[in-house]
Amino acid sequence: MRYSAFSILKNAFSGNRNWAPMWREPQPKPHYDVIIVGGGGHGLATAYYLAKEHGITNVAVLEKSYLGSGNVGRNTTIVRSNYMLEGNEPFYELSMKLWEGLEQDFNYNAMMSQRGIINLFHSDGQRDAYARRGNSMRMHGIEAELLDREQVKKMIPYLNYEHARFPVLGGLLQRRAGTARHDAVAWGYGRGADQRGVDLIQQCEVTGIRRENGVVTGVETTKGFIGCNKLALAAAGNTSTVARMADLQLPIESHVLQAFVTEGIKPAIDNVITYGAGHFYISQSDKGGLVFGANLDYYSSYAQRGNLETVEHTIEEGVSMIPGLSRVRVLRAWGGVMDMSMDGSPIIDRTAIDNLYLNCGWCYGGFKATPASGFCFAHLIARNEPHQVARLLRLDRFRRGFAIDEGGKGPQPNLH
Ligand SMILES: Cc1cc2nc3c(=O)[nH]c(=O)nc-3n(C[C@H](O)[C@H](O)[C@H](O)COP(=O)(O)OP(=O)(O)OC[C@H]3O[C@@H](n4cnc5c(N)ncnc54)[C@H](O)[C@@H]3O)c2cc1C
Repeated sequence: MRYSAFSILKNAFSGNRNWAPMWREPQPKPHYDVIIVGGGGHGLATAYYLAKEHGITNVAVLEKSYLGSGNVGRNTTIVRSNYMLEGNEPFYELSMKLWEGLEQDFNYNAMMSQRGIINLFHSDGQRDAYARRGNSMRMHGIEAELLDREQVKKMIPYLNYEHARFPVLGGLLQRRAGTARHDAVAWGYGRGADQRGVDLIQQCEVTGIRRENGVVTGVETTKGFIGCNKLALAAAGNTSTVARMADLQLPIESHVLQAFVTEGIKPAIDNVITYGAGHFYISQSDKGGLVFGANLDYYSSYAQRGNLETVEHTIEEGVSMIPGLSRVRVLRAWGGVMDMSMDGSPIIDRTAIDNLYLNCGWCYGGFKATPASGFCFAHLIARNEPHQVARLLRLDRFRRGFAIDEGGKGPQPNLH
């Protein structure tokens, strides 16, 4: 079913009882050309682009829970391409361009909103770092504006400008950045892949990877053995456990990140704002809730829930930046499991096992990467060679000493 203003009208007249389901509920076939492990944003986008761009449709996405139950439906929805390093910037800008046409492309309302992101700075040193980042973006052909304190004050007057310890001195603005409705992105890609013949198989956990003579022949699952020619892992926070089934040890640690939503209030925050004196980011959803988050809980975990200490820390940072936040009630908080890489940048690569492909290391920035990740991973799987913009996101970069350390924090995954 194609969605349009006409289909909304037509279905309204029949009491909205005739909408077709968004995707089928197929039973797994014995064998596929490609199996993708993980029905999150990246797995579904990969299936979509495999079918759409490369005509490969004998594909199954295996999801242990329901589609979108992982981080794709748990994040704070920020989309941006304000990266600095050569390994990242062209990749995230491709993602930004795909975001800009995504809703028309997959015929689904993902509520993409280019409301702009402002990264605040609070010291001279931080201003220099943001000026450098902005310059690097502009050299890659991406717009960036360095705002002084008065310009920021005009745009967002409700910040605490008088904070003696963390004065707001200005901000780096990317106007094309913004937010998108996270679970709608999973649904849009899932629906688009299903329409092209991809089998989306929910409640199907991969429990083992079968290999013969050094190549993968298929996966053991809770729905039995399923064979494949190529196996692609897009399991985000569970990547290391799934990869271990093929005896792969990866430079990934799993950590929890929490998100928070307040009660709905009248429109107050027009942009995405990040606090440079700590690590706090906030935007307002279309329903009026303030959506925010901060740092990781600082120890490894596979639990999709976080700790009170981090809740306290997050709220403290938020109130330091926007004092009025103390008057708003938090309604919900939850956690997601992040696949933190050693340099904070992702991996889209082949592995030492010829027909096993890897997509991971998204840390807490993988939502914005969803379109380019799916696009480049599909390219790699279909052609056995990396896409130009993902050519540096290699697994062996750690061995070769070519880390892509955007934050300059060294090999400590929970700091990125
Ligand atoms: C609180 C929070 C805030 C965030 N904020 C942002 C943000 O503002 N901007 C941004 O860009 N990024 C953000 N992120 C990061 C982003 O959400 C992730 O990097 C990205 O969603 C990861 O890719 P994915 O969507 O494919 O992951 P997921 O949705 O987690 O998909 C992986 C899937 O694999 C499945 N799976 C795992 N093991 C198996 C198995 N054995 N068999 C079958 N299926 C399996 C899981 O159930 C899961 O559904 C945030 C994350 C969190 C948790």
